[in-house]
Amino acid sequence: MIFDNELLARCISCGFCLPACPTYQATRQEAASPRGRILLMRALESGELDGQDPTLAEQAAYCLGCRACEPVCPAGVQYGDLLEQWRDHQWRGSKAPLRARLLMFLVAQTRVVRAQGWFRRHARSPATKDGPSLMLGCAERGLFPQVSRAAKRLVPALAVPADQGCCGALHAHNGDSRAGALMAKALGDRLGGVIVTTSGGCAAHLARQLGRNRVREFSEYLVESGVPEGQVTIGNRPARVSLQDSCHLRNGLGVSRQPRELLRVVAEYVELPSAATCCGAAGTYSILRPRDSQRILETKIDEIERANLDYVVAVNPGCLRQLRTGLRKRKSHVRAVHIAELLVIAAE
Ligand code: SF4
Ligand code: SF4
Repeated sequence: MIFDNELLARCISCGFCLPACPTYQATRQEAASPRGRILLMRALESGELDGQDPTLAEQAAYCLGCRACEPVCPAGVQYGDLLEQWRDHQWRGSKAPLRARLLMFLVAQTRVVRAQGWFRRHARSPATKDGPSLMLGCAERGLFPQVSRAAKRLVPALAVPADQGCCGALHAHNGDSRAGALMAKALGDRLGGVIVTTSGGCAAHLARQLGRNRVREFSEYLVESGVPEGQVTIGNRPARVSLQDSCHLRNGLGVSRQPRELLRVVAEYVELPSAATCCGAAGTYSILRPRDSQRILETKIDEIERANLDYVVAVNPGCLRQLRTGLRKRKSHVRAVHIAELLVIAAE
């Protein structure tokens, strides 16, 4: 058995998910829609198609895993779970794309990942039994250490232990959900009580593995514990800012109001028409499918430029990297920042 058959049977083929799916919108092909992919999964489960089938292989990889198909589904199809089960089969062991295997290998080097924490001066406070602790994130602590530094500055009470590993989301989304679950558990054991994370994707993965009550995404945590004050200004006017949702945070955990609430306090908030749509980062997607990822990003950057913004704000390190790359290529004056960074600017 490849899939949880109860989950697979839930789809009633109504097609309500089609308008929400970026790959269907880009191609208008049924196979590139959630409904079409579920039909492919059923064919795989029944043995009608095998994993070598080119359409199956292509669609397992072309799907962004953004889960935009979930909130609009009247039958409660948990597409994200089905996709993980599909890739566990399709990308098992050496069948996973080489770049995905390389990334999984790197983030699983727990000692190396933990050692990076030791170079972060703000990561010097050991976890307490009841938390809250700040998760450093495997990619974020290397690429964007200023994000956890800003989070610690805004909430000094957060414990930030240096010796923490990766949460395993990358494994779960790339064909090794078992390792993804074990890594989440190990991190949960190391960080006591509530884990606060500045990464929407990690929040969704950890909440599924450890339970929702153990996990808070950073903006969610701030709204619950006290909104910071201040204003971000450009000259003598409030800065124009917009949010790029984290797909898994919005579609998996249902968190989208909180970051907007914070941004409205500190700046002039502008909602982009595609704020809730994937920016093309999608975990490892921008590395595994750079051309498809770029196509999605181009449309997003066009929209950002048209909106006459000062800042576009991310709540996930992958989105932050993606938006920065797109804006830099365009030589745009718009700055992409993490919400923790923007709130520190507001407080200064
Ligand atoms: S909306 Fe849900 S039930 Fe309807 S086709 Fe899409 S996945 Fe299936
Ligand atoms: S996860 Fe995203 S890209 Fe994949 S089927 Fe669902 S909406 Fe489409």
